[in-house]
Amino acid sequence: MRHNFLGMYRTHNCGELRKENIGQKVQLAGWVQRIRDKGSIKWIDLRDKFGITQLILEEGKCDGNILKTASELGREYVIQTEGEVVERYSKNPDIQTGDIEIRPNTLKVLSVSKTPPFTIEEESDGGEELRMKYRYLDLRRPPLQNNLQLRHKMLQETRRALDEFGFMEIETPFLIKSTPEGARDYVVPSRLHEGEFYALPQSPQTFKQLLMISGYDKYFQIVRCFRDEDLRADRQPEFTQIDCEMSFVEIRDVMDTFEALVSRLFKTVLDLELPAFEQLSYADSMRRFGNDRPDTRFGMELCHLNDLTQGKGFKVFDNAEAVIGIPFTGGGSYSRKQIDALTDWVKRPQIGAMGLVYVKYVDGELKSSVDKFFSKEELAGWMEKAEAGPDDMLLILAGEKARTLFAASELRLELGSRLGLRKPGEFKPLWVYDFPMFEWDEEEKRFNAIHHPFTSPKDNQEQLWEKDPGSLLANAYDMVINGVEVGGGSIRIHRRDMQELVFKALGFSKEEAEEKFGFLMEALEYGAPPHGGIAFGFDRLCALMGGADSIRDFIAFPKNNSARDVMLNSPSGISPKQLDELSLEISQGSKSS
Ligand code: ASP
Repeated sequence: MRHNFLGMYRTHNCGELRKENIGQKVQLAGWVQRIRDKGSIKWIDLRDKFGITQLILEEGKCDGNILKTASELGREYVIQTEGEVVERYSKNPDIQTGDIEIRPNTLKVLSVSKTPPFTIEEESDGGEELRMKYRYLDLRRPPLQNNLQLRHKMLQETRRALDEFGFMEIETPFLIKSTPEGARDYVVPSRLHEGEFYALPQSPQTFKQLLMISGYDKYFQIVRCFRDEDLRADRQPEFTQIDCEMSFVEIRDVMDTFEALVSRLFKTVLDLELPAFEQLSYADSMRRFGNDRPDTRFGMELCHLNDLTQGKGFKVFDNAEAVIGIPFTGGGSYSRKQIDALTDWVKRPQIGAMGLVYVKYVDGELKSSVDKFFSKEELAGWMEKAEAGPDDMLLILAGEKARTLFAASELRLELGSRLGLRKPGEFKPLWVYDFPMFEWDEEEKRFNAIHHPFTSPKDNQEQLWEKDPGSLLANAYDMVINGVEVGGGSIRIHRRDMQELVFKALGFSKEEAEEKFGFLMEALEYGAPPHGGIAFGFDRLCALMGGADSIRDFIAFPKNNSARDVMLNSPSGISPKQLDELSLEISQGSKSS
């Protein structure tokens, strides 16, 4: 007989009984979700991971002891029952077990429950913080169970696919030394080495490169990473990556491999055929969408209007580094009031625009908020360049380039949402590539690596290293779906002299580079194959595929917005003894317990 893995408490789960089972004696166990009491009849909704089955207890038809036990039950009690499957009088088409119910012959309380602090149903009445504190109760709810089920499927399918593609799963250490992914490290004090610390990995980057040097050819790991970043919405201090690396590859090879992986995840998990991946250079992405992770489910691309708008006496445009238009489809019907509201929207500090200029047809004539400075022909020229039709409205932002691109990109997304063009079930994947190597850090007065310092530069840029390092391009790429950066990677440096050059450009002295990454630079001297890879933000990919915005709903035990675990109450102090063992002193005002 095939083992059904149900154990000794039950013959079936709460989601599987159907009409065909009528007449059978079954044994079920689960949680009491709800009790409806009509005096002489009681119904109990019994819930487990698989569904809900109704129990019916009728006076006269049911043993007195059972009725007594039933009258003492409360929500979330854990019970076991043995009984007969019968046809329901009134069927419930909303649930799969809705045709049947159970007439119990026995009813046993396995565990009592305090009244839960919020309702454990599809929708809960509990606030975020309360549900985080009682996460184990929130996790009983079907939406969270479904999310973790999706995550589980994705984990299994990722492993299966990468194994088939020839990748080998290799674990790398958590107690390491600083890795440079641009955030702060979480550190762990060492007891054995007084005054010294480990760092938790921000990613296994250097290890996976070393594994390529060790000849493992293709590596992957579904791995926890730790980044101590300033609080931003929907970031977790620890998160999971699908981390991958391959030897003897160029960009196209990496793209092909991971298009195959992600397409397969969509197919097996969502039964969805992902469209072909587009490719967009970083420069084009910035120009057309104002950001490097465009949502390409809709158009309304940005239009650069400097040439047509400057030198006509309108100071705001004349003094602007960028004048950018967005053709708002159907926006011609917007009223004055709606335009004012949109103007307020772009002026909010989160968006940071100075104002908003509009151009649209009113009673067959082009009108704008800058009519004084520009002729009708000029306005028509802008509309034409932006591909705005007679029913559309051209919205124009102007100012310093980076800020204006940002504001324009945000406004485009907002308008896309208002028009319902960012459809939840539609997925548009693409690659953004040719990122710059470096970005200038005005505060520190030096360059930072845009991806990380191990990313190789594109070929044939020798003259730029001295002249203009800021315009060097990298062999780096991001996978973007619906405006979400789901993964990023690069072809790495595999020669010591190039790695030294990059460290130098980043302002590392020879000694600093040696101290931090001497091991890697030395390894590069022992026959490093050309290699490259990528890492996916696994939590984010789950959220995207699960149709949700928040990654928290796809992590069993996440931290809250201020990086706290409110269930464990962590971080927290440690005992004086522990502090002492670690040779740590805590300054006045800090917490220890
Ligand atoms: N280690 C990189 C990251 O975490 C990914 C990569 O370059 O493969 O973003």
